[in-house]
Amino acid sequence: FLFELKGKIDDCFCTIDTVDQFNNAKIYPRISSIILKDYFRFYKVNLKKSCPFWKDGSRCDMRYCQVESCNEELVPPGLKIRQKQHHENENMSLKYTESGNEFDCDEVEHQDLGYLNTTISISTLEDFVLWQAYDDAQDLYCTLPDEDGEAQYVDLKLNPERYTGYGGKYAHRIWLIIYKENCFRPENIFEVYVRSSKLTGMCLEKRAFYRAISGLHSSINIHLSAQYLLSDKNNNLLSDCSTGRWGPNIEELNHKFAPEFTNGEGPQWIRNLYFLYLLELRALVKASVYLEQEEYFTGNEKEDTETRKAINNFLLIVKSFPHQFNESSMFKENLDGKSLKEEFRKHFRNISMIMDCVGCDKCKLWGKLQTQGLGTAFKILFSEKLDKLLSSNINRNVSLKKKSFQLKRSEIVALFNGFARLSTSIYELENFRNMMQ
Ligand code: FAD
Repeated sequence: FLFELKGKIDDCFCTIDTVDQFNNAKIYPRISSIILKDYFRFYKVNLKKSCPFWKDGSRCDMRYCQVESCNEELVPPGLKIRQKQHHENENMSLKYTESGNEFDCDEVEHQDLGYLNTTISISTLEDFVLWQAYDDAQDLYCTLPDEDGEAQYVDLKLNPERYTGYGGKYAHRIWLIIYKENCFRPENIFEVYVRSSKLTGMCLEKRAFYRAISGLHSSINIHLSAQYLLSDKNNNLLSDCSTGRWGPNIEELNHKFAPEFTNGEGPQWIRNLYFLYLLELRALVKASVYLEQEEYFTGNEKEDTETRKAINNFLLIVKSFPHQFNESSMFKENLDGKSLKEEFRKHFRNISMIMDCVGCDKCKLWGKLQTQGLGTAFKILFSEKLDKLLSSNINRNVSLKKKSFQLKRSEIVALFNGFARLSTSIYELENFRNMMQ
């Protein structure tokens, strides 16, 4: 079935072949080296947040589910200093909002009402900050950085995304809730998982949402098939991680995607991965003016200069791709567009909260990172503030960062690492094809 994956990618302007060639030759080598840079390697995350939806013993005790702890001394001091400064700045502006932390997921709904009920004229600094916070909340797809006391730096290089053994009813429950309750589904269907043929009656925004989630699911399952635990050194499956041998498992890939095992749907799920790839690629292009100005500060001058150079080179290549995803018509139907966008945001916010219910820490880490990456892509693609900035005649040399659109470090880290996962999945598919040949 991998050899039959051809033709146009749904809702996009290019073919699977075009993406394969572009990604495997130009993007994959570059993004793989960028994410090894210190700025992108350390991700701050709270893996101890309790699941807001249920409480039962669904934790994975397998060795492979654990996250290797990170020696805090290895974390570049520059990252920690920036974090501290950021907190101080945030606390300053929070004094004005008086409504709690505008970046807190659980507070957004309550806050929205608070802001909407306040009729103010933007005449004082206090009012301005209040409205600015309200605008920021509109941009949030719950891509909230975990920056509380329990959040810890994780060295992503020490914890590659791969087979962990997590599965069965607990993993199914997570996917089930994501698709059943938090994805837009065509009306009048009773299947739990959406069949692709039913998507045609849905609007672009809802199709895009479903395809993005399904593409993420595909990417995770391709990774665990490509980095499967083949055996330990005694050839005993599933034993000590340190002696494990990891590599591609064609049977697992078949089981996950071949039409005969997936009711004919598997190939479409892989096409959704290509859709998501193009969507995130477009977000990188759209935010490139911003990303080109980022300092990528870790405190190590040589490393930071190299990182900026690598990013600028990468963004040049990304911008050269001629068949960009076109988000410009999305959420434009006046009132309907506004409420649809709100619904879209709420669904995505729920999905990011569901990640705290994943019972395998390694899967949770990558699940949280990739949803934050996707949320950041949505924020970039659908931010009215960024649209205004890009369309206004601002002097491009004037720092965009001083303007109202902002990305936090963890959003940038998640965006690049999340995109790198998709790029690697497409590259791994090529490896599987070569093996099969
Ligand atoms: P599942 O992948 O659990 O799928 C459940 C059902 O969803 C399928 O029966 C099918 O009807 C439907 N479905 C499957 N794929 C798609 C798709 N792409 N689009 C739409 N519908 C689909 N395991 C690891 O080994 N390593 C990891 O790092 C890892 N990370 C995970 C992260 C998260 C957030 C979650 C929820 C799970 C993770 N898992 C991971 C588990 C993995 O995704 C599978 O759940 C597990 O391997 C069991 O797979 P399965 O074949 O039973 O079907």
